[in-house]
Amino acid sequence: MPRIAIIGAGAAGLAAAYRLRSLDAELTVYDKAEHIGGRTLSLGVGGLESNTGALFVYRNTPADRLRAELGIDASPFLPGTWGVHINGETVVTAAPDTLAERLPIAPRAKAELSAFLLEAIQEYRGYSDVEEASELAEERFGPRLAALHPDAASIIRSAVHGGSVADPDLLSAKYALRYFASYLAHDRENRLYTRGGMQQIPEALAAALEPGAVRLGREVVEVSDRGGSEGCELRFADGGVESADRVILAVPAPVVPELVRGLPPEKLDALEQVDMPGSTTFCITADIEGLPAIAEWSFLATVGTRFDAIINPQPWSADSDEPAPSAAQFVCYGNSHGYDPGVEGSEAALQAWEEDFLRVAPELRGRILGRHLQSWEHCFAILTPERTRVIDRLRAPVGAIHFAGDYTSETAGTHGAYAEGERAAAEVRQAR
Ligand SMILES: Cc1cc2nc3c(=O)[nH]c(=O)nc-3n(C[C@H](O)[C@H](O)[C@H](O)COP(=O)(O)OP(=O)(O)OC[C@H]3O[C@@H](n4cnc5c(N)ncnc54)[C@H](O)[C@@H]3O)c2cc1C
Repeated sequence: MPRIAIIGAGAAGLAAAYRLRSLDAELTVYDKAEHIGGRTLSLGVGGLESNTGALFVYRNTPADRLRAELGIDASPFLPGTWGVHINGETVVTAAPDTLAERLPIAPRAKAELSAFLLEAIQEYRGYSDVEEASELAEERFGPRLAALHPDAASIIRSAVHGGSVADPDLLSAKYALRYFASYLAHDRENRLYTRGGMQQIPEALAAALEPGAVRLGREVVEVSDRGGSEGCELRFADGGVESADRVILAVPAPVVPELVRGLPPEKLDALEQVDMPGSTTFCITADIEGLPAIAEWSFLATVGTRFDAIINPQPWSADSDEPAPSAAQFVCYGNSHGYDPGVEGSEAALQAWEEDFLRVAPELRGRILGRHLQSWEHCFAILTPERTRVIDRLRAPVGAIHFAGDYTSETAGTHGAYAEGERAAAEVRQAR
C-alpha cells in the first residue's frame, strides 16, 4: 500500500489528510507539537473558551464550508462599536464619525483621523466583495499614512497591525481594507465565532482519520526526495527514519528550507518573498457584571500598549433582547510586539500585559477571572504584493514533495490553509 506522509497537523495538513482519507493508502500526519491544530489553538481562560491563535471563521470560505460539513456551530460576530486608546484615554463609540472629536489628540490629528476613517469605510463598502479588489493587491497600504499627523497615523497603524497582524508598511491595501476597515464598518456578514473554540475544526478533521494516523510530538528534521519513483525519506528528531511515496509539507514557509535541503533556486526565491512575522497574543477574561458599555466593546486600536488592538469576539448590544453578559473575553493582539517565547508561563510578563490591559479598561481592576499569554514564531502569512506574484512557485511540487499552508494561498488565515490542504490532496491523488 502506498505511504503518504503529511508533516504538520495544522489546518493545511489536516485538511489534506481529511480529503485523502478514503484513498487506499497508508496515511500518517506528523507534528512536532503536542496539540492538534498548529496555529488554531483554543483553551479555557477564566471559564470561557478562548483562542490564542485563529479567532474567526470567515464566512463563505473553505473554512466555513469545512466547519459546516463537520457540524461545528458558529454564530456571527456582530461588532457595533469601534474604539481607540491613546494618551491615557479610552474612547469607544458606535458612530466612527464622532470618535476622533472625543480623543485627547491635536485638532489637526482629529480632522485627519476622522477623514481617514470615513474614507476607509466608504472604500470598504464600495466593494461588494473585497476579495475582488484585485487592483488593491498591488498597492501598499503604508504610503496612505505618510502625510498624516503622528497621532492619527499611530492610531491607524495600531488598528491595521492589530486587526491584520501585518506591519502597515508591508501590507497590501486590499488586505488592510479587509482586516481593518471591516471592523470599522461594523461588518456583520464576514466573520463567524465558534463558541466551543476554533480548534474544534482541526480536531474534528483528525477524528475522521484512522485511529493513530496523527502522531504528535514527532518533529521532522529532514525530508529528502530520492528522485524518480523512489519516494522520500523522512528523518525525525528522535533519530527515527521513515519512507513515504508522497509527502505533503504543511509547515510554515520559513521552516520549509530547514527541512528540505537542495530546493531549486526558484522555490527558494519564492519562499524568500513570504513574510511571516511573529506575534504575541494575550487572552484575558473579566467579570463585566454591571458594565454594559464594556460588554459592547468589539474592536479597539490601542497606542502605547504591548498590544496593538483588543477584540471582544462576542460583543453585546444594548438593542438586543439578551441580558448583558456577566463575563467577557478580550483578545489582545501584540503583533508589533512580535515573537517573544520567554513570555509564556512568565508571571512577570502576565502582570505586565494585564497592567497594560487595565490602563485601557481601568474599570476591570479586581475583576480579572483568567489570563493567558501565547507567543507565535510565525503568526500569519502576510498578503503582500510580493507573495501574490509568486503563488504558483510556492505551490509547485518538488519531486514527490507537495507544499501547502496559509503561505501558498491567494488569501491567508485558516481559510487559505484549509483550501491549500485540499489542493495539495488533489495534487497527490492526481500524481498516483
Ligand atoms: C494570533 C493569530 C490570530 C489569527 N487569527 C485568525 C483568524 O481570526 N482567522 C483565521 O482564519 N486565521 C487566523 N490566523 C491564522 C491561522 O491561524 C493560520 O493562517 C493557519 O492556522 C495556518 O495553518 P497552517 O496549517 O498553514 O499552519 P500551522 O497551523 O502553523 O500548522 C503547521 C504545523 O506544522 C508543525 N510543524 C512545524 N515544523 C514541524 C516539524 N519540523 N516537524 C513536524 N511538525 C512541524 C507545527 O507544529 C504546526 O502544527 C491567526 C493566527 C494567529 C497566530
